[in-house]
Amino acid sequence: VELIIVGVIVLAAVSAVLFPLLRRRPADVLPAQPAALEDRIASYRAALLAGTVCDRCLRDNPEGSRYCADCGRELDVATADNPAS
Ligand SMILES: [Zn+2]
Repeated sequence: VELIIVGVIVLAAVSAVLFPLLRRRPADVLPAQPAALEDRIASYRAALLAGTVCDRCLRDNPEGSRYCADCGRELDVATADNPAS
């Protein structure tokens, strides 16, 4: 009986170590061109800072946009005639 308990503990320990390693696999599916990915991240970051990321569909719209280019939702952007609430 003790052997079974030890076996279960070892199995749990091994799977605890292997599981994160297996979960890391999706990183291999990232775009082949890291530069393109970095550009995408940079543009999304700029949109986040500008407040032009759509609440509804999460699209990053160009800075200065007042409406989402994807779904048409009005963006919550602070402008001269539309101060942020
Ligand atoms: Zn949208």
